[in-house]
Amino acid sequence: MSQQKHVVVIGGSVSGLGAGLALAKDGHRVTILEGDSAPMPESHVEAFEQWERRGSPQTRHSHALLARLRNLIRDHAPELLDKLRACGAGELAFSDMVRRVAPDAELLPGDEDVVLIACRRVTFEWVLRRHVLDTGLVDFRDGVRAAGLVAEPGSPPRVTGVRIEGEAPLQADFVVDASGRRSKLRDWLEEVGSAPIREESEPCGIFYTSRFYRLRDGVDAPMMEGPIVGEDLGYLKIGLFPGDARIFSITLAASPDDDALRAVLHKPAFEAAASALPQIAAWVDPAISEPISDVHAMANLKNTRRFLVEDGAPCVTGFAAIGDALLHANPITGRGCSLAWVSAFELAAALAEHPEDPRAVVLAYDAAVEREVVPWYLLQVQQDRDAIEVNQAQRRGEDPFQVVREDGTNNPKAFMRSVIREGLLPAIRSDVTVMRRFMRLMNLLDPPNDLMSDPAFFGRIVACYNQRHEREAAREGPRRKEMLDILESAA
Ligand SMILES: Cc1cc2nc3c(=O)[nH]c(=O)nc-3n(C[C@H](O)[C@H](O)[C@H](O)COP(=O)(O)OP(=O)(O)OC[C@H]3O[C@@H](n4cnc5c(N)ncnc54)[C@H](O)[C@@H]3O)c2cc1C
Repeated sequence: MSQQKHVVVIGGSVSGLGAGLALAKDGHRVTILEGDSAPMPESHVEAFEQWERRGSPQTRHSHALLARLRNLIRDHAPELLDKLRACGAGELAFSDMVRRVAPDAELLPGDEDVVLIACRRVTFEWVLRRHVLDTGLVDFRDGVRAAGLVAEPGSPPRVTGVRIEGEAPLQADFVVDASGRRSKLRDWLEEVGSAPIREESEPCGIFYTSRFYRLRDGVDAPMMEGPIVGEDLGYLKIGLFPGDARIFSITLAASPDDDALRAVLHKPAFEAAASALPQIAAWVDPAISEPISDVHAMANLKNTRRFLVEDGAPCVTGFAAIGDALLHANPITGRGCSLAWVSAFELAAALAEHPEDPRAVVLAYDAAVEREVVPWYLLQVQQDRDAIEVNQAQRRGEDPFQVVREDGTNNPKAFMRSVIREGLLPAIRSDVTVMRRFMRLMNLLDPPNDLMSDPAFFGRIVACYNQRHEREAAREGPRRKEMLDILESAA
């Protein structure tokens, strides 16, 4: 392989475009194939109203764009950050959060890295695509759908191109699959002689709804403690995501088998639920904002990972998957776009490091994914399993936070849940040290080692937990039964 290659990227969404930028900057000739035949609207305003992105339906959902993504943009494509700002994207800085909670607290070096981007996903993708097109470095072909791969046989096979629906195959030195969560990579690779590709997949335990609102002219946004609202009532997860241009979105998510909660898929019930939740009620007050979209829904959400290296050996060379095609997890923690870009830039680094060695590229990339991406996936899998248990216990009428069991023994799982709920969560709101560690973790800036295993950190949390009886109980929102009554009245 020569230093500069022809790289064909399948999928022109967040990860495909990120890969396009990273690879073109390294001098590679990049062709992006995007299956959706959806002409780009004239502006990001029209994009929200008209852009049919059927291939990436989550484009219509709430998105948090975390600091890890923002910093990759800042470091590799600063002009893109300027273009996002010019379209009304905001920046949600940790330093502002500190000033609200503890005006005299000292800011530390590194705090300037903790900044999220407030921007609708559709605006982000529109500006990103426009930017990539404007660089002139990438051949972006929309309405062109990959149908499979071309490979030289061998052990392992080496991918040498892409089969395209209705066209001749396209030759490539390297193929990147950025075709999202529904990627057909397992079929494609097996068709060209790879060993079977292993896939792990399990439900996230939620369905997801999003509705967008615009703040009324002249009205200030209600106060928020953090950069976004994220609260888990057990039976219902609540999110509020500031976007660009005075637009924000609200997400309500619940268990797919909680039939009664499905009422939130309909506008009246969604509004009634949002108005009954103290965390977000002020935002949906008709005097403050007006809804500007339907309630969008997404179900069948899974945590899924695909393995392209087994026992230290690549299943194929000349090929890698990035973003959701490689792995995707519960969207509620807002990590997907950041990890998509991390994987795209790690792949570019592996290609730069091993220009002449196809096997080493795959192994170096796999090692980077194991280090930078997989730990977040595993954390999510573990958290979702626990959240499903909490939800099921609550629906059986049990208290999943009850530390001492009926038989007098201690329930360590319930204890940890209580420490998180009555120690960690209040500490995040009041203790700047805890807030900083948590925000760095939430924004993927520190590795997801168990924070609770750090004795100094755990000490602060326990101190806060031990004061739980001295604090006024936080009003979390209606219990499930109350919420069901609210939904029924609205229906
Ligand atoms: C409901 C929901 C909410 C989310 N919220 C957040 C959030 O708050 N923050 C966050 O960071 N992430 C969030 N995510 C995750 C995030 O949206 C994804 O991680 C991200 O979109 C991954 O980008 P991608 O480019 O890998 O895949 P996608 O965005 O799915 O794009 C895949 C692209 O490939 C194209 N394609 C597919 N097949 C072919 C083919 N055969 N040939 C050519 N093109 C093809 C599709 O048309 C599409 O454009 C959310 C996801 C969901 C489902």
